[in-house]
Amino acid sequence: MKSLKFATQAVHAGLVTDKTTGAISTPIYQTATFRHPALGQSTGFDYSRSQNPTRQAVEEALAILEAGHAGFAFATGMAAITAVLMLYRPGDHLIVTEDCYGGTYRVLDKILVQFGLEVNFVDTSNLEEIRKVIKPNTKAIIVETPTNPLMKIADIAAIVALARKNPARPIHTIVDNTFLSPYFQRPLTLGADLVIHSGTKYLAGHNDVVCGVVVTGNACLSEQIKFIQNAAGAVLGPQDSWLLMRGLKTLVLRMRRHQENALTIAKWLKNHPSVTAVYYPGLAEHPGKAIHDAQATGYGGMLSFSVDHPRLPEQILRKVKVHQFAESLGGVESLITFPSVQTHADMPLDLRRRLGINEYLLRLSVGIEDVDDLIADLDQAMSK
Ligand SMILES: *Cc1c(COP(=O)(O)O)cnc(C)c1O
Repeated sequence: MKSLKFATQAVHAGLVTDKTTGAISTPIYQTATFRHPALGQSTGFDYSRSQNPTRQAVEEALAILEAGHAGFAFATGMAAITAVLMLYRPGDHLIVTEDCYGGTYRVLDKILVQFGLEVNFVDTSNLEEIRKVIKPNTKAIIVETPTNPLMKIADIAAIVALARKNPARPIHTIVDNTFLSPYFQRPLTLGADLVIHSGTKYLAGHNDVVCGVVVTGNACLSEQIKFIQNAAGAVLGPQDSWLLMRGLKTLVLRMRRHQENALTIAKWLKNHPSVTAVYYPGLAEHPGKAIHDAQATGYGGMLSFSVDHPRLPEQILRKVKVHQFAESLGGVESLITFPSVQTHADMPLDLRRRLGINEYLLRLSVGIEDVDDLIADLDQAMSK
């Protein structure tokens, strides 16, 4: 499986063919527990929190697609992130992308600080900002690239080099790879230790399931995450594991189309008289483009843009017909959100202001519809 090309792996990896019937689709093992053949014997499965064959199939596929050691499927992306954060102890220090997913900010700022974790939120697109806050107790650098919603780019390999600089005190590099998916970016091949996904987004891809993923870069981390997954228990159920696996099969086709549509829309927005800025790493003028091009093979389907009037976002959200005004991203349907009052509402106002997550900024998750319809929809919604 490892020697096959990505698109082939996406279709075949992890597949369990039912020996009795030959069913091509991996069966949904909707069971809580498993009968033991005899005392001291096991089929390899004991109880579905520990492992379930359908979940195991998708976990294997995820490990292969991210070029990792092992994959782990969780009930949500936040459950995956929380499981990774459970690797750390009171007094440990983490460095996290400042314009990260709002839920990541919330779980760190409101919950994990209560357990004694110290966190610095910094601009991880600036290596110097990371270097400045590294301390003897720094245990992990958690990055999103591109970031949400401003599409800033962090240099994964350079961060890994910084994290490994002191061999006596290695620091984990953890990448939330939700925005690009392994089709466009594989952080473990750049030296990262762990990859996290909200599988809800591009991996599952159809806005019909919430799920989360962790892929580890080595056996030691696999053992630790496996232990946490079973002990804390926020596992993905068999039905949802099957949906995630079904989504993976079309990941390549979807990502190509998301990207093609996003690039067309980004260029169209750039020339719109009411638009003051477009944030998309595929645009030639994007500040992180050179770094992005060196570590990823595509730009994905997410973009943000600013308009010239504070009342325009409200009008656009009211008037769109093809685009759905909804949170989330990465599905086949195009979604539009207003980060300052939705996805990033839990971020302190001064940080939002400084980052530019303001009342002029809208975020698009560009779907796989016909791009002409998407542009016509935005055009009518934006006309004054
Ligand atoms: C949505 C999202 C999450 C959280 O995932 P859920 O599946 O909603 O729990 C984490 N990181 C990023 C970048 C996301 O977009």
